[in-house]
Amino acid sequence: MHEQSPHHTTTMERGSFAMARCSCGWTGPARRSRERARTDAAAHEATAQQAPAH
Ligand SMILES: [Zn+2]
Repeated sequence: MHEQSPHHTTTMERGSFAMARCSCGWTGPARRSRERARTDAAAHEATAQQAPAH
């Protein structure tokens, strides 16, 4: 039971902000640090994998 998650997150930068983005279409809030955006991405992956598919 090790299916690949459809949630592939990346971070992108916009000006002086960074934000997380997922292959499912989700985007995180703009952060002032890339580290923070990464945390958002990780949190999204964790919660998205627990939630039932919709
Ligand atoms: Zn996602």
